[in-house]
Amino acid sequence: MQANVARLRAHLGPSTALCAVVKADGYGHGAVPCARAALAGGAARVAVVTGTEAQRLREGGIEAPIIAFGALDDEELDRALDAGAEIAAWSTRFLRRLGDRDARVHVKLDTGMGRLGTRDPRRADEVVEALGERAVGLWTHFATADERGDRFFGEQLERFRAWALPHKERRPELILHAANSAATLREPASHFDMVRCGIAIYGLDPFGEDPAGHGLRPALTLRSYVATVKRCEPGQSAGYGRTFVADEPTRLATLPIGYGDGWRRALSNNSDVVIRGRRYPVAGTISMDNLTVDVGLDSDVEPGDEATLIGDGILAEEVARRIGTINYEITCGLLPRTRRAYVRDGEPARE
Ligand SMILES: *Cc1c(COP(=O)(O)O)cnc(C)c1O
Repeated sequence: MQANVARLRAHLGPSTALCAVVKADGYGHGAVPCARAALAGGAARVAVVTGTEAQRLREGGIEAPIIAFGALDDEELDRALDAGAEIAAWSTRFLRRLGDRDARVHVKLDTGMGRLGTRDPRRADEVVEALGERAVGLWTHFATADERGDRFFGEQLERFRAWALPHKERRPELILHAANSAATLREPASHFDMVRCGIAIYGLDPFGEDPAGHGLRPALTLRSYVATVKRCEPGQSAGYGRTFVADEPTRLATLPIGYGDGWRRALSNNSDVVIRGRRYPVAGTISMDNLTVDVGLDSDVEPGDEATLIGDGILAEEVARRIGTINYEITCGLLPRTRRAYVRDGEPARE
């Protein structure tokens, strides 16, 4: 993780900072240890979405600047400000809720994402104006940065430049930021003063390809183990709904992991597991707590063997592709029951 951040920073000019996005519990990896590793790798600050997430980082001992860039209801706004987090704004209505409280605010222009932010540069100007010194950043977010060659990306970039650069000229201390991981890797003109990288710091590829292509290494390995191995005769089946029925004698290994851990049911009969260096297919329906793997008659798989679901040649990108989603959703989907262990340079690291 630390190496991925360093690698991304090598794409940046000397005046561009990297903000590590650790929302959604660090894309399922664990927000606090990821924030710590990203800061060690040279990130200048970290970003989350909610005030609660910002508080958790503070409780975990993260002292770096935090941005909570989501839409905040009153409670989340209180929490964000209590945590000393910077926040986002785009409407005078929100400014009324903020009142005269002390805050560091990033004003958001919606240049085409169509979610948060105002589409009207004039209204964004009003918010900047009303905030005065409390406005510390100007920002936007891309809708299609991960679609190479897409022209909309350039249009959004132009709209952002046209709005933000005149402000920057008047107030050089304003932090301009727009790029997510894909934009960071794809277009230096989108870097401005800061980039907000999420997926790539985890060593996952924003374009859904092999992250090695960008010199990134997956931070996460997902492992279970073989709890039992049993013979399966022709006609015998495994799992709910009998979606696997043996047509020749084989052996099935049961791993104690399932969709209750975040290993999605759609991967039933549609994913592989690596045991003792060999890939074997998942056979049958993945249940909440277990799944079964067809290890054949000639393998030496036995109870206690380690079993890898992500890692050892299986990329989160491959898993995502099999079920028509993106790598983001695969790691974000890992549930609390999957025990996390953190490693740094091969040694156990702090939680
Ligand atoms: C999630 C998010 C990011 C990070 O995006 P990646 O594609 O994971 O790099 C950046 N900015 C905003 C506003 C986001 O919501």
